[in-house]
Amino acid sequence: MQDPESYLSSVFGFESFRPGQEEIVRAVAAGLNTLAIMPTGGGKSLCFQLPALMQPGVTVVISPLIALMRDQVRGLRTAGVEAGALTSGNTPEETDAVWQGLEAGTLKLLYIAPERLAASGTERMLKRAGVTMIAVDEAHCVSQWGHDFRPDYLRIGALRKTLDVPLAAFTATADTETRAEIVERLFDGTQPETFLRGFDRPNLALAFEVKNQPRAQILSFAAARRGQSGIVYCGTRAKTETIAKALRDEGHSACHYHAGMEAEDRRIVETRFSREDGLIVCATVAFGMGVDKPDIRWVAHADLPKSIESYYQEIGRAGRDGAPADTLTLYGPDDIRFRRSQIDEGLARGDRKSADHGRLNALLGLAEALGCRRQILLGYFGEEATGPCGNCDLCAVPPETFDGTQPVRKALSAILRTGES
Ligand code: ADP
Ligand code: MG
Repeated sequence: MQDPESYLSSVFGFESFRPGQEEIVRAVAAGLNTLAIMPTGGGKSLCFQLPALMQPGVTVVISPLIALMRDQVRGLRTAGVEAGALTSGNTPEETDAVWQGLEAGTLKLLYIAPERLAASGTERMLKRAGVTMIAVDEAHCVSQWGHDFRPDYLRIGALRKTLDVPLAAFTATADTETRAEIVERLFDGTQPETFLRGFDRPNLALAFEVKNQPRAQILSFAAARRGQSGIVYCGTRAKTETIAKALRDEGHSACHYHAGMEAEDRRIVETRFSREDGLIVCATVAFGMGVDKPDIRWVAHADLPKSIESYYQEIGRAGRDGAPADTLTLYGPDDIRFRRSQIDEGLARGDRKSADHGRLNALLGLAEALGCRRQILLGYFGEEATGPCGNCDLCAVPPETFDGTQPVRKALSAILRTGES
């Protein structure tokens, strides 16, 4: 068997592994059941693509978005790897080519949409195909409580048992409940080899501000970054439209995006964002998983996200190319009340609700921090920071000098205390 490094340069054209990649690649290639938690942009795809090349037979990849699948297949084929996808978006020719590659035993990676698992012929086809391994991308989609839940992901566990092959699961979602659900549903409760690391994104500058004039605060943040691509996350659909308009009035190139728009209009925004330099998208969290633009230079939250995990995932869309990127999160008493009532009025069971309150409180703890924010953020995800990061607002200006905001902080702390149940 060739060494992983040789594939890294010859096939993927990379000089070295990113932090954490090599150990995962080796475990997956050795045929272990694995769960790898790596931040967005950490390079998870390579961790199943490269082992697929090192092994005989075909690796089945389950991924939630057709657009992402097609992108990866295109990339692999350009690199000379035999890869194909079975999705509803296929032309008959594409599907034929996939079948032929399977018959001939030359196909190395077969991407299939989760919905395909429900089709009667799929399992039979995969049994005959000589599958070596199953890779599950965005594995948190198996979690019923997350907002990315995909019911068909629940079929993957049974597929693993039927095919009796190792499974490698990948996600950027690190909280312990989601992890436990992944282990339960994909691995039948048996703990896989787990990799949890590389959460630090040192190139992302972290900052929080108490909301006083939210629109002006967002406009001034954007003004300081004129001409750079950015995302403004908003708590409501209406706000995505008003902020986008305010930004255009200031001469920025900006548009809005939310799940209430026609699919076609959303696709236009996605395409513009990936192709244009300097476009600002004001969006709800619906603008997310499919965003695969490496050079987003900033992310601002006009409203407080619902949890520390959402916060981390949303800011993580910036600076995936490793170059410096800025983030700013606004928060105030109304946000806290809104997020609390959203949880209380939601349909979740009681234990889930208290977990959700915990994740929101963790984010509030980060917002109200008195010391390095990155240390707190990494600590939450179970990673130890070596010292203050030097790249957050509190490292830049220690809180003693925040006199002007003390009354607001006190008021917020009072809300925090009364809200705790
Ligand atoms: P994730 O799925 O973890 O969010 P991706 O697999 O999409 O991340 O990778 C993010 C980017 O990093 C891609 O553009 C990919 O080509 C690049 N990348 C991955 N591994 C390496 C590496 N070892 N060296 C350089 N670039 C890499
Ligand atoms: Mg990915």
